[in-house]
This record gives sequence, structure tokens and C-alpha cells, in this order.
Amino acid sequence: MSKTYDMLIIGSGPAGLGCALYAARAGIDALVIEKSPLPGGQIINTTEVDNYLGLPGIGGFEMGDTFRKHVEKLGGTFTEDEISSIEKEGDTWKLTGNADTYQGYTVVFATGAHRSKLGIPGEEEYTGRGVSYCATCDGAFFRNKETVVIGGGDVAVEDAVYLAGLCSHVTLVHRRDELRAAHSVQESLFAKENVTVAWNTIPDEVIGEGTVQSLKVHNKETGEETSISASGVFIAVGMKPDSELAAGVCELDERGYIKAGEDCKTSTPGIYAAGDVRTKVLRQVITAVADGACAVTSAEGYLAGIKLKGSSR
Ligand code: NAP
Repeated sequence: MSKTYDMLIIGSGPAGLGCALYAARAGIDALVIEKSPLPGGQIINTTEVDNYLGLPGIGGFEMGDTFRKHVEKLGGTFTEDEISSIEKEGDTWKLTGNADTYQGYTVVFATGAHRSKLGIPGEEEYTGRGVSYCATCDGAFFRNKETVVIGGGDVAVEDAVYLAGLCSHVTLVHRRDELRAAHSVQESLFAKENVTVAWNTIPDEVIGEGTVQSLKVHNKETGEETSISASGVFIAVGMKPDSELAAGVCELDERGYIKAGEDCKTSTPGIYAAGDVRTKVLRQVITAVADGACAVTSAEGYLAGIKLKGSSR
């Protein structure tokens, strides 16, 4: 630890990179701390992003890379580390990571979110042996095989559409009789001839012998128990915010999201939350990037106040 940064940005997904871009242009001395050398956060697990203005049909990996190169071109600074604690020291915040410690006047949590677990028997045991949380990462292992996708949101339906292009058959298991996913993705799903939707169906257990063989389910209306034959079970039942580090530093909501509005200000001055980790209505790449810009704009005022205080001492 040798210097005090204006801003420490934790995370290099779209929110962290959007933040770094605006910080670089605003002359804010910022450091992006990234856990993985692959930038982009959740989008690197996405085959194609078609709803980001100006980049139609871009691959998730390419998008993360494009974002990062833009930040680098403007002089953005990055380091690879995993932060384990954060504490206040006078006007600054000290972040402790596995590799180093970092001091900054402001901190932006751009830590994102990850896929939720279902919590059924066999799920943990067969993770990596047929149970997966990322269709685009693992789908190719199930070429010409039968798979199941669990969930009814955008991710589950997009995963089912993607897997339908690789697998002999896909069963989408959903606990209700209507999908939550956007209409456009539902249309793509219903156009696939090798996809069946098991409505009102509750997953009970992943069954296997070394690797996954089937998913035991029951119909919540009739109570009927059945087994769906599958080599792969893809679980897409929502997201959980990566906010553990922020607990105790600023307020979280009951689901663990950092409480922050459009200005990305949290309950603690100098601490900001941007992207999927904060309370918000729409979690998309475009809104995450926008959060990065808003966090910097909010922090600019705070930093001006700190520097004014420093110069009058
Ligand atoms: P989501 O929209 O919260 O959907 C989760 C799905 O899992 C729901 O259908 C839910 O059922 C089901 N589920 C939850 N818990 C379950 C359980 N214990 N057992 C069985 N089913 C369960 O989550 P997501 O699909 O991961 O998407 C996360 C966010 O990213 C959303 O805001 C989504 O719109 C956004 N996203 C957008 C795009 C895009 O626009 N291109 C792509 C991907 C993700 P119910 O429907 O019954 O609640």
C-alpha cells in the first residue's frame, strides 16, 4: 500500500468498467480491483448479447474485452486481487486483499451477483458431473444428449433455447404455468421442436451414478411423481448479490442487495454501489454501465468536499 486513490472500484463487470471509464474521463485517480483476469463479470458466460445499443449480437466475452480495452485506452488502472475486508481509517477506506492492501477516499461496490442454488438432494453432489449453472460454459458437454433446464426467467429460457441447438432434447422444468421470461425469448423457445416445457413441476432430486442420469420431479397440481431422463441439469433459478463484503459497511435489503438509488449512493458517505449488486428494477448490461457513470458523478461531489477539507487544514 503506497498511495491513497480517489476511488477503489471492486469488480470489473459492466458496472465496474463503466465506472472506471467515467472516472478516467473525470480525472479521478481510480483503481479497478478484479477477482478474475477475465473482465466482463456475468456477461462472459453469455453467448450473445443483443440488447446493448450499438453492439448488436456481440458475444459476451468479446463485449467484456471491448469494454476493458476502452477503459485501458483512457488510462484506467487495474489490479488482480480478491478483497476480504474493508475498514474506515479517518477520511479513507482500507481494503485488504489476498495480495495487497489498498487505500481510497471512496469505494464503489460493483461486485455483481451469481446464480442461486436450488438446494435439492443431488445438486451439490453432481455439480460438475452433470449439474451446471452455465449453459454457455458447459452446454457443449451435452451435445446430442438429453438435458433439463430448471427455471422460468430470462436466463432459464435463454439457456433452454441455446441448449436446444446442441442437445437431442431439452425439458424446461418450471414451477408455475407461465414463464417470467421476456416475450421475445419465449417465442424463440416455443419455436424449438426439441423442447418440452414441464409446467407446474417442482424439482425434487438429481439422480445419478457417477454422473447425472435423471431429475426426479412432481407435479404440484396432481402430486404425480415422475423422473425426467437427462445427462445434464442446468439450474437457472435466479441470482444472489455478491454483497457479503458490504454487510456492516452500508445497508442491505432483505435479499442482500446493497440499498442504493439511481445516484448509486449507499447509506454510508463515500461508499457507492453500481450494477446488479444494488437495489434496482432492471438488471441489464446497459443499466449496469449507466450505474458506473452515476456512481462517478455522485463521488465527484464527495471527493471535492474531502479535498476542500484537506486543503483548509
Ligand atoms: P429470475 O428472473 O428471477 O427468474 C428465476 C426463475 O427461477 C423464475 O422463473 C422462478 O420461478 C424460478 N425459481 C426461483 N426459485 C425457484 C425454486 N426454488 N424452484 C424452482 N424454480 C425457482 O432470474 P434470472 O432468469 O436468473 O434473471 C436474473 C435477472 O437478469 C432478471 O432480472 C432478468 O430479467 C435479467 N436477465 C435479462 C436478460 C436479457 O434481457 N437478455 C438475460 C438474462 C437475465 P417464478 O417465475 O415462479 O418466480
